[in-house]
Amino acid sequence: MESKIKEKNWSKDFEKTIYESWKKSDVYKFKKKGKVFSIDTPPPYVNTPIHIGHAFTYTLMDMFARFHRMKGESVLFPLGLDRNGLPIEMAAEKKFKISIVHTPREKFIEHCKKLLEESSSESIDSFLKLGISFNSWEKGNDVGDMYFTDSPEYRTLTQATFINLWNKGLIYEDERINNYCPGCRTTIADAEIEYTDLPSTFNNIIFTVKETGEKIIIGTTRPELICTCGMVIFNPDDQRYKYLDGKTAITPLFGKEVPIRSHPYAEMEKGTGLMMMCSMGDQTDIRFFREMKLDPVIAIDENGHMNKNAGFIAGLSVKDAREAVINELKGKELLVRQKQLEHRTPICERSKHPVEFISMPEFYLKQVEFKKEMRRIAEEMSFHAPHSRQILLDWIDSITIDWPISRRRFYATEIPIWYCKCGEIMLAEKGKYVQPWHEQPHSKCKKCGASQFRGEERVFDTWFDSANSPLYILKYGTDFFKHAPCTLRPQGKEIVRTWLFYTILKAYHITGKNIFDDVWIHYHIVDEKGKKMSKSMGNVIDPHKILERFGAEPFRIWCAVEGNLNEGDLRCSFERIEGAGKTLTKLWNVAKFVSMFSQGKHTNLQPLDEWIINEMNTLVDYSEKYYELYDFHNPAIRLKNFLWETFASHYLELVKNRAYNEHGKFTASEQASALFALHYCMQTLLKLLAPVVPFITSKIYNDLYEKDIHLEEFPKPLHVKHFTDFSKEDLMELNSNIWKFKKDNGLSLKAELSDVVVPEKFHCIEKDLIATHSIKSISYGNLTMKV
Ligand SMILES: [Zn+2]
Ligand SMILES: [Zn+2]
Repeated sequence: MESKIKEKNWSKDFEKTIYESWKKSDVYKFKKKGKVFSIDTPPPYVNTPIHIGHAFTYTLMDMFARFHRMKGESVLFPLGLDRNGLPIEMAAEKKFKISIVHTPREKFIEHCKKLLEESSSESIDSFLKLGISFNSWEKGNDVGDMYFTDSPEYRTLTQATFINLWNKGLIYEDERINNYCPGCRTTIADAEIEYTDLPSTFNNIIFTVKETGEKIIIGTTRPELICTCGMVIFNPDDQRYKYLDGKTAITPLFGKEVPIRSHPYAEMEKGTGLMMMCSMGDQTDIRFFREMKLDPVIAIDENGHMNKNAGFIAGLSVKDAREAVINELKGKELLVRQKQLEHRTPICERSKHPVEFISMPEFYLKQVEFKKEMRRIAEEMSFHAPHSRQILLDWIDSITIDWPISRRRFYATEIPIWYCKCGEIMLAEKGKYVQPWHEQPHSKCKKCGASQFRGEERVFDTWFDSANSPLYILKYGTDFFKHAPCTLRPQGKEIVRTWLFYTILKAYHITGKNIFDDVWIHYHIVDEKGKKMSKSMGNVIDPHKILERFGAEPFRIWCAVEGNLNEGDLRCSFERIEGAGKTLTKLWNVAKFVSMFSQGKHTNLQPLDEWIINEMNTLVDYSEKYYELYDFHNPAIRLKNFLWETFASHYLELVKNRAYNEHGKFTASEQASALFALHYCMQTLLKLLAPVVPFITSKIYNDLYEKDIHLEEFPKPLHVKHFTDFSKEDLMELNSNIWKFKKDNGLSLKAELSDVVVPEKFHCIEKDLIATHSIKSISYGNLTMKV
């Protein structure tokens, strides 16, 4: 008898032929037949190689896609690449030594394009090697084709959404204090801010009370902002300062008169309990000025320098200004004490520069007045895991200002507006990508007839682009959009407040509806000890190394078996991945064994075979139920146990003799039943594992059954007439007891036992037990054995 699988072991080298055939063929192309299952994949940046988190999450998304394809659904699983915005600009600045300040816009964009051309599609290559079944690897405009976020088609959509929102009155321009990153040289949204503890100096400074001449001491980390001080406050419960309420303070060096009031923002324990409120210190200050209706004083310009409102420090950088003020205070003996401390400082999420607060005119998309609707949508979507919904709800609750959507950068989608001298604002036509900074509109001014316009120079926040992704992949504006909402948004927890929130906000403004059915939120991959992976710590696990050493399959099965990533951070190591690969060897060996037998038809299923088919059926139902919930972790553990224990260690041992039937002890019908069950279980197990380990299952299935497993339907449980009296545990216990008895008596496993009494429930598999355990005489009762 010969196995249909020729090779001794599964090898990672088999993977190449398989993924290359997938790339060439159109097995995974989007074909509209059944219900549409759409996945709004997060486009990674084109110029950065994928990291372990990408490898992991795309692998899981691929499992979702493959499962739903087997369910007969039309799976929309496009590959998108993010090529817009700051990461590209910063890389171009570094590589070509250009700068957004000194390089002309056209030149700057040329360099960005050059960078994009030269940047390898390393990430695409890694996705291919991981076996990700994207609809297409070619760029195009059909449903499911690969897309770039900087393509004219994508940018046309972004501009069209702006025009749509503008016409609905949801966008307005306003000059107000906003977060400004001196590194990125642009306004940024609250959602793009992180906090970090930076070393800082807490300075105790003397103010004077105008009415009494009394000296009061106020602590601050930002003395250069004294010039913007609008009020001095103390906590309403702070008895020490009650008498100051309603009086006036005079600021040191600048001599400005500001009111003293009680306000809960002031903490009694912090510093002296007195606080100066500046119009640009941090977000608390900004909110305070809005709430108290104080006129903010703007003292920092967009280059991060003090402006004319800053008096003697005008023209200095913020850092130099701070030093100058401290020296001046020291000289005038107005500085009482200095203390070093760590200060929780808002920084830019991308460039990590401390955020400043300056005033510039920007476009805003309304969100504050829609918080209730956003909460309702958050409740409507199904979150996996359910508790991750709270991340979104918390963010919605914390929103206090509208979304500033304009940026002062170059390589991004342009805001499609022109301005006429007469004051008329002219919007671009929908459906065509325009660059107002270097082209004129085609029509004349409706109001005055002029044909020369000033083009808008600002661009969109790249999140304004990214927030279109489900509209783009579902071809908003065409008939195909009837398949909205998008079935699934898979994404990381750290971009809930940006990508997820902005997408549901924009889609709600444009379509009036919720754009996602399900949201799958994943956490992070950490090292073996639970520490965050970072280059400086030297604990990074590079997916390229994983692919080189093990191929995709051990990694993929590890992702499923250990990867409970929607519950919390996940620990990863090369050893764990290598260990997971042992299951592939087991699967290979079991398949080699099964493939020695022809499949055959059965007329009369034997009880042992009915039992294993029932065990298999339980797993079919279980896997389907959990796969539907995006949980591959729990089924993978059960499938792994089934393969190693139930099937290989117990069923195969018991059925072997009947399958071979070398001595003709079994009837042809009994043997046929064994062969049928062996192949039924093998086929079903391969199908259940196909979404998880698509390479090895593809090869085995093809060798055994000469068919593409990825075109097969998800299995349905086979109807079986009888349920056996014994359970899986009963049978395993019986086998183990007999094997242990032989071992304890120094016998080989093949040695004969003269008398064995087994519980009555095993009567139905008598012939299999006799053959497997070499029993001379079997009877029924409580288990006993004799040599
Ligand atoms: Zn920045
Ligand atoms: Zn005009």
